[in-house]
Amino acid sequence: MKIWPAPPDHGIVFVRTDLKRPELIPARCENIRSTQNASTLGVNGTRVGTVEHLLAAFYGLQIDNAVVEVQGPEIPIMDGSAEPFVQMLYAAGAERQSRPRRKLVVTRPVRVEENGKWAELMPSDRLRIRFTISFDHPAIKDQTLEVEFSNGNFREEISRARTFGFLHEVETLKAHGLAKGGSLENAVILDAQGVINPEGLRFPDEFVRHKILDTLGDLMLIGLPIQGAYRGYKSGHSLNLKLVQALLADHAAYDIL
Ligand code: ZN
Repeated sequence: MKIWPAPPDHGIVFVRTDLKRPELIPARCENIRSTQNASTLGVNGTRVGTVEHLLAAFYGLQIDNAVVEVQGPEIPIMDGSAEPFVQMLYAAGAERQSRPRRKLVVTRPVRVEENGKWAELMPSDRLRIRFTISFDHPAIKDQTLEVEFSNGNFREEISRARTFGFLHEVETLKAHGLAKGGSLENAVILDAQGVINPEGLRFPDEFVRHKILDTLGDLMLIGLPIQGAYRGYKSGHSLNLKLVQALLADHAAYDIL
C-alpha cells in the first residue's frame, strides 16, 4: 500500500494498482459492498476490503484528502490496530490546505436499532463516542467507554487497540479459506478462558477501545468529519453503516458548515 497527497475536497480515494483497469473507489457510504467481518468498498465490481482501521487513522489525524494505492483486494491488516498507519502518516507529515475544512454537524437525534443492539447520534459541541459491549466471556464481559476527540487523544487512547476474535471463529474462517494471514501477530485471540496472546492486552478494556476505533472508521464513510455525539450498544460495522445512511437520508438532522 502507498498513500499519496490529494488536493482539497478530494476526500479519501482507494485505487487498486494490481488491476489492468484501475478503478477509483471513494471512501463513502454509497460504495459499501459488505460489512461482514470488515468493511469492503467497491465500484463497478472492483473491491477493496478491511478499510476501517486505515480510515480511523485518517480520522484521528484529521487527514481529509489522500489517495490510497493498494496492490491487492485488501488493506494490510498490520497488527490489527491503527497504530502502524498512524506512525506512517506521522512520519510522512501532513499539510494544512488552502480551503476551509467542511464538517457535518448533527442537529437532531438519529437512532437505529436491530435485535437488541442500537446506535445513535445526538447534537454535540464536538465528536464524542460512547460505546458499550457485552460479551458472555470471562475476559470481556461488559465494557463501556466514552472518548471525546478534541486534543489529539486518538493516538494514545484508541489507535493502539487491536481487533479481536475467538479461537473457534478463527478456525471456522480458516476452514473456509479466510483469515489466511490470521495469527496472534494481528489480532487478540480468546479461547474459552481468556486471551491466548503471550503479550496479553495493551489496555484492560482494549476490546471496547477497538470498537470505538472501528466506529471512527465507519463514521469516516460520511465523507466529511462529523460533529456529534455517537452512542452505541453492541453495535458493529453493519449497524453503524445503517446509522450513517439514516443520518444522510434525513436532511433535517444535520447541517454542513
Ligand atoms: Zn476493527
